[in-house]
Amino acid sequence: MKREFKVTFWGVRGSHPVPGKNTQIFGGNTTCLEVSIGKVIIIIDAGTGIINLGNRITTDYFASGSKEPLVLTLLFSHLHHDHTQGLPFFTPFYLGQTNFHFFGPLNFGNELHRVLEQSMTPPNFPIDFHLSNSVKNITTIKENNIIIIDPDKKIPRLVNTHLEKVEGKDTDIIVSIMSGFSHPANGIYVYKIEYSGKSVVFCTDVEGFMFGDVKLVQFARGAELLIHDAQYNKEQYTAMPTPRQGFGHSIPEMAIEVAQLAEVKNLALTHHDPSSTDTQLMKYDSQYKKKFESLFYAREGQIFQIIQDK
Ligand SMILES: [Zn+2]
Ligand SMILES: [Zn+2]
Repeated sequence: MKREFKVTFWGVRGSHPVPGKNTQIFGGNTTCLEVSIGKVIIIIDAGTGIINLGNRITTDYFASGSKEPLVLTLLFSHLHHDHTQGLPFFTPFYLGQTNFHFFGPLNFGNELHRVLEQSMTPPNFPIDFHLSNSVKNITTIKENNIIIIDPDKKIPRLVNTHLEKVEGKDTDIIVSIMSGFSHPANGIYVYKIEYSGKSVVFCTDVEGFMFGDVKLVQFARGAELLIHDAQYNKEQYTAMPTPRQGFGHSIPEMAIEVAQLAEVKNLALTHHDPSSTDTQLMKYDSQYKKKFESLFYAREGQIFQIIQDK
């Protein structure tokens, strides 16, 4: 039996949240993606979009009357503010029923737990990270790790592919990791989530390379959906006296080049610049569809179905 496999965009904005009349269509919350396969919930990044997701997860959990733990896997691309600032306001963080599995990169020599703890430390925030009731398993991961999740058990298992032969079942969910170095100053992780022969690749806070990011092209090959940074357009990227070259973000042309070389089926653009209005994003959306037909500028609340519910 194939389970439903879908992606929900909870925050598609880069840098900082932008509430207001110009962001009502595409949304103003910072990066957060939910990937759900059956009852398994995998979250990538904890920008302010995670706050609405947390409210939904909490409501669903109590409505279900479940006596099982609420198992959540949370992957971090990197630890910049716009990818972590929603975590202190994520309701499941405070529930004793929540069994968290956090995974993310080493940051300037600091293990993941150190960086997360620092983000919630009095006097900057009233509640100490470890005083919340949830159970937290926090693991710093490397590119040679993969994460295997049995959809029936929901608990992720970390495998070092250099030391262990990967033995998963056909029905398992596999998360693989690619490190990218184009984002200052510590790089980011790109994640690929595969289930039942289909995959989604999440790749934000990256700047394109000449001839395309060849490592990413290989990593994303044949994906059903590639979600790629396109914070700027060409004018913003090159505007003097403050060009955005080297800021570690892409323009749509860079994402399209990767999507074409990797022969992905669909391309979602994300991490929209805070200054980009709904009107501008709608214009870019129709403009770039001419270059890659199945491209779309991701909107907050949008759901992309990879395997339909039977
Ligand atoms: Zn960012
Ligand atoms: Zn960043």
